[in-house]
Amino acid sequence: MARSLLDKVWDAHSVRELPGGQTQLFIGLHLIHEVTSPQAFAALREGGFPVRFPGRTFATVDHIIPTDSQKRPLADSLAEEMLQHLERNCAEHGIAFFGPGSGKQGIVHVIGPELGLTQPGMTIACGDSHTSTHGAFGAVAFGIGTSQVRDVLATQCLALARPKVRRIDVTGKLSPGVYAKDVILAIIRRLGVKGGIGFAYEYAGPVVEAMTLEERMTVCNMSIEGGARCGYVNPDETTFAYLRGREYVPKDAAFERAVAWWRSMASDAGATYADRVELDGAALAPTVTFGITPGQSVGVDERIPFPADVPDEDRAGVEEALAFMELKPGEPIAGAKIDVAFIGSCTNGRISDLREAARVARLGKVAPGVRTFVVPGSQEVQRQAEAEGLPEVFRAAGFDWREPGCSMCLAMNPDKLRGRELCASTSNRNFKGRQGSPTGRTLLMSPAMVAAAAIKGHVVDVREVL
Ligand code: SF4
Repeated sequence: MARSLLDKVWDAHSVRELPGGQTQLFIGLHLIHEVTSPQAFAALREGGFPVRFPGRTFATVDHIIPTDSQKRPLADSLAEEMLQHLERNCAEHGIAFFGPGSGKQGIVHVIGPELGLTQPGMTIACGDSHTSTHGAFGAVAFGIGTSQVRDVLATQCLALARPKVRRIDVTGKLSPGVYAKDVILAIIRRLGVKGGIGFAYEYAGPVVEAMTLEERMTVCNMSIEGGARCGYVNPDETTFAYLRGREYVPKDAAFERAVAWWRSMASDAGATYADRVELDGAALAPTVTFGITPGQSVGVDERIPFPADVPDEDRAGVEEALAFMELKPGEPIAGAKIDVAFIGSCTNGRISDLREAARVARLGKVAPGVRTFVVPGSQEVQRQAEAEGLPEVFRAAGFDWREPGCSMCLAMNPDKLRGRELCASTSNRNFKGRQGSPTGRTLLMSPAMVAAAAIKGHVVDVREVL
């Protein structure tokens, strides 16, 4: 019977069906970081359990790491303590740790793929919501909570309900100035932030097939923002080409064998889906959020909606969003004055994102009064950017070039909004208080759009700038 990738991966990793209807699922790769692992290791210690498969567990530090200087000891003693805690836990349990001195540190969802740890047909778990990023390779990848991190450390398994699969075909061809970020924002706008509950999203169609792996990662990254348990793209030649030669990827004949298996895990042509959705990629414009959920967005050429114009179930949310954001219904989102521009995160902190932002940065200077943060997603991205001269491009335009980490995506380090600042951000969440100030405001958009907003001092259609 024709099966989807989700079903193939699920069946291949199923240890047994549990009485309550869940599956005991074996986890091929467990990525950990400093925020959600300490309590899990403490629980392990209390229970006297070893880490079941240290060779399948990899750690890095990303949330709390400062981006002005990673020099040890870190300036923030609490951050230094958390870092040392993770170092000790990894050393004690024989887990590979990609710390600041390793040359491989970075956001967990950036380094997994670039090291080749993330591979098609895998099950992947990490104590971070945006683990869905790894689905770009044709993996089934979940964000998990701290108690589940403990479970995976102790057993390498999780008890999970099998999600249904919704196939989302993005047809046509994107226009210049429209990016993967716009695609996923448009999908979430259409299906809602809760529309994916109970589903895995399978992204397909000509637009997705034409995307690079980095673009696919941007799309899969935000699956969770649409409520989906995970999101994935079927592995293809683009996937195999990206993986070839990476550190943890099999070599030579073993690589060819791996490719044959990876290929076999893609959804079969006749697979059936619980739901199917089609989106016209050619009709998409650069997209900007106006509200406090990633689903509250408009094309940059559209106006902010009146609460009366949205469906009944969305009205209260839009009213709350407009009051918080101090944006006026009926006005275009273009022209909204920004205070901060943030380029980075596991959504858009990869080299291709920085290249697009730099393309715009070459065209002008940061507007007076706008604070900027350009934060590579990993030390490897930082090296690549330096080799291409991107820091000089950003600095010449007045952007602040930083060291790798999560930075202002979540503001668990010193990179924070102040007061009511309005931030044009390439990250994935625009919730109240997400960027470090309880009253700070976030507009999500693509890296090119953020760079354009930084130069103009307000939201602008990047197609007019390029
Ligand atoms: S960049 Fe943001 S979303 Fe991604 S792992 Fe870091 S804090 Fe989480």
